Amino acid sequence: MKNLPLYLKILIGMVVGIVLGIAAVNFGFTGVVMDWVKPLGDIFMRLLKFIAIPLVTVSLIKGVANIGTIQTLSSMGLKTVLLFVFTTVTAIVIGLALAHFISPGEMVSAESVSSMQQTYGASISAKADLSQALAHGSPLQPIVDIFPENAFAALANNGVMLQVIFISIIFGISILLVGRERCKPFMDFIESLDAIIMKIVELVMAYSPIGVLALIAGMIVVSAGDVSLLSALGMYGLTVILGLAIMILVVYPLLIKLFTKIPLSDFFKGMMPVQLLAFSTSSSAATLPVTMESAIKRLGVSEKTASFVLPVGVTINMEGTACYQAIAALFIAQVLGIELSWLQMLVIVGTTTLSSIGTPGVPGGSVVILVMVLGSVGIPAEGLALIMGIDRPLDMLRTVVNVTGDTTVAALIDKK
Ligand code: ASP
Repeated sequence: MKNLPLYLKILIGMVVGIVLGIAAVNFGFTGVVMDWVKPLGDIFMRLLKFIAIPLVTVSLIKGVANIGTIQTLSSMGLKTVLLFVFTTVTAIVIGLALAHFISPGEMVSAESVSSMQQTYGASISAKADLSQALAHGSPLQPIVDIFPENAFAALANNGVMLQVIFISIIFGISILLVGRERCKPFMDFIESLDAIIMKIVELVMAYSPIGVLALIAGMIVVSAGDVSLLSALGMYGLTVILGLAIMILVVYPLLIKLFTKIPLSDFFKGMMPVQLLAFSTSSSAATLPVTMESAIKRLGVSEKTASFVLPVGVTINMEGTACYQAIAALFIAQVLGIELSWLQMLVIVGTTTLSSIGTPGVPGGSVVILVMVLGSVGIPAEGLALIMGIDRPLDMLRTVVNVTGDTTVAALIDKK
């Protein structure tokens, strides 16, 4: 058991949780599960939430500051960043559209939805609050709310993700303006803090099999053993796969065909080893050396472009992750019977774009970040329990998209 890879342990946790939940419903010990098992899941949720803000803050500051100098950011960097944002928003819109039309979460029966609302619905009123606030204030209020009045209050409050992102980005840019030389002690501090936080994430993840077991058992008990929950989960997985396939088979080839001279067959052949490595490691950061080599040797991207765009891309560009987060957020909202307004969808586009920048390119990097995305539109983060069990295969696939996106942007920039 000890030597099993983490994702298998999580999968086993999910299966045991499902069996436990169904058994509790059928043999009448639901009280025991709610009193003694579900709290173990609550601990897991708290751990994820507690590490989310430090993780986003530090990886964003690091990501922006590592762009190098303000000159690189404004010349080549700005083009690159704009392209990254364009492809990311495309991925999110595809994800939202698929989740909206396929509606995997609506496969869950109405009774389960209403009992889950009672248990997890603490923040379901968020939508009402938001529309009320809008009715009374200026339409620009959501934009105004991105700017924090008090940095410490913003960092202390779980709900205001956009403020946290604003603070981190302006910090990163200011480091570039002041110059890396003068900021060296601070950057050394950020580098060590980053290593420590990644270690904490690893420790929290080591607990995740128990956390997932407890959360899913609790959910099954709350939904009174409803199996429609599981078919909805299957449909959610298929929706994510479809979104990622559209990116790989339609969006990137289209960009390559329209804006570069690389023949598509060369592009697919050149990407193959990179994609295989990304798939097997689930880490775009670990794949970077092969991504660089392939871009330069197989696709003919110049060394200068590749060595700037690809390392930046690995840190800030994650279309696979963004597409998946959009689908996951909508799916969880559907399962919990939360109807999202257009404004909230826009907030999801904004937070997902920015938070995919803050996602580390490591296995499961985006799970912690998803907690914040959910929080920003008032979706209870406990919904994560549903999707955690099947996250690993989806993680492998979204990492393939992430590295393909980095390479596509590098090829596009090189052409320019
Ligand atoms: N595993 C992904 C990557 O390395 C990040 C994530 O979506 O979890 O690109």
